[in-house]
Amino acid sequence: MNRRSFAKSLLAAPAISTLAAQQVDRRSNGLPPLTIKDVKVITTNGGARYRWVFVKIITSEPGLYGIGSANNNYQTQAVIAALEHHLKPWLIGKDPNQIEDLWQSAHLRTYWRNGPVNNNVLSGMDMALWDIKGKRAGMPVYELLGGKVRDAVPCYDHVGGKDASEASEAVLKSLASGYRHVRIQFGGYGGGGFISPGTGSRPEGARSIPGFDEEVYVHQVTKMFEQVRAKIGFEAKLCHDVHSHLTGMNAVEFCRRLQPLQMHFVEDVLAPEQLSWYKHIRQVCTTPQAVGELFTHPFEYVPLMTDRLIDYVRCRVSGIGGITPAKKVAHLCEAFGTKTAFQEGGENDPVNQLAAYHVDLSSPGFGIQEENHFPPSVYEILPGTAEIRKGYLYGNGRPGLGIDIDEALAAKNPIRPGNNGSAYPLDRAMDGSIVKP
Ligand code: MG
Repeated sequence: MNRRSFAKSLLAAPAISTLAAQQVDRRSNGLPPLTIKDVKVITTNGGARYRWVFVKIITSEPGLYGIGSANNNYQTQAVIAALEHHLKPWLIGKDPNQIEDLWQSAHLRTYWRNGPVNNNVLSGMDMALWDIKGKRAGMPVYELLGGKVRDAVPCYDHVGGKDASEASEAVLKSLASGYRHVRIQFGGYGGGGFISPGTGSRPEGARSIPGFDEEVYVHQVTKMFEQVRAKIGFEAKLCHDVHSHLTGMNAVEFCRRLQPLQMHFVEDVLAPEQLSWYKHIRQVCTTPQAVGELFTHPFEYVPLMTDRLIDYVRCRVSGIGGITPAKKVAHLCEAFGTKTAFQEGGENDPVNQLAAYHVDLSSPGFGIQEENHFPPSVYEILPGTAEIRKGYLYGNGRPGLGIDIDEALAAKNPIRPGNNGSAYPLDRAMDGSIVKP
C-alpha cells in the first residue's frame, strides 16, 4: 500500500462506522439504543397460596419494561438469590434487543448448564426481554414469533373422581362447558394404585400413609378408563398422567391395556431415568405418549423425537428457560411430527401461561396446552392475565406478553415458605421406599 492509498483508507474509516450506525438504526426502526437499567425481583402469593417469583427488566427508555416468570414452587428462595446476586449484576447495562445472544450467554454464564434454578432465572430474563421487544414494536409477542397459525389455544381440562361413575359425570360436564380434551385422575391427583394406610402387608413400624403398588395401579386405572369409555363413548379426547409412578414392563403393560380405549395421550408413564423403555412401549401399542415434564433442556427430547418414541412434549416453558427455547422445541416438534403440550400445573403463574400461549399461537408444532385458571385476586395483581373461555385460552392482543404486575398489590400479598422447606411431597410404596414423582 502506497502512502496515498493508505491516506484514502484512513478517510474511509468514518464511512464504516456510519454504516454500522445505520445498521443499528434499521434494527431498532430508528429508535435510540436501549440498555437494561435495572432488574427487579417481584414476589407475590397472588392473593392465595402461590409462591410466585417474577422478574421485571427496566430499560433506559422511560416507561419501557418487561416482565417474566421465574416461578419455582420448590426452590423459591434459591431462584430469588440467583436473580438478585448473579443475574442482576451481570445483566444491567446490556442491550435488551439481543435476546438470543443474552439467552446463550446467560445459559453459559454459570459454566455448568441447565438445572431447574438456572432455567427459571433464564426464563424470567427471556420472557421479560420478549415482552420489551413486543412493547417496543407495538405488537403482541406471537406476531414477532411468526404470527397466528390458529385462532386461539385449545386447552385440556382436569377432572377427577373416586370412581368411573364420578369421573364420567365430570367429563360430560367438562364437554358441556366447551372442552374437547379432558385429563382424568382417579381418587385425586396422582391417585390410583394406593393401598389404604394400615392395611395390607407392611413392615413393622410402617408409616401410616397410603402405600403405592404398581400392579394395583395398572389394574385399577385401566379398568376405570374401560368403564368411563363404556359410559361416555369416544367423543372426549381423554388424557391421564401417571406421574412417573410406573417402572419397566408395568409401564408397557399399562399402555397396552389402554390401546383399545383410544387415549389422546398418557403422560409420563415412566420416570425420566427410564426413557429407553419407550421403545418397548412402541413395539406393543399405539397409545400416544406425552413425556418430559421434568426435562430441563430442549435437547433432551431430540433422541426421543428422532426415533419417533413420543408424541407430545410436556415441558413447562419457564422450566426450560423461557420463550426462546420453547419456540425451538416447537420447531423440533414440527420437524419430527411430535407436538407440544406445554405443562402448567396448579402452582404455575399467569406470566408463564401467557408465554406458552404466544408460542402455541404461532407454532404449527403445537398440540394442546394444559389448562390453568386463577382466582379473581390474580386478575387484580396481574392485570392482563389470560382467560379460558369454552376450552380455549385467550390473551388480550396488547403489545408484548400483554400482562403487567401491580407491585403495590403484590407487596401486600407476600409469599410465605411452605412446610418442610417447600419440598415436593413424595409418595411411598408398601415397604416404605420412595416412588418417583
Ligand atoms: Mg404431569
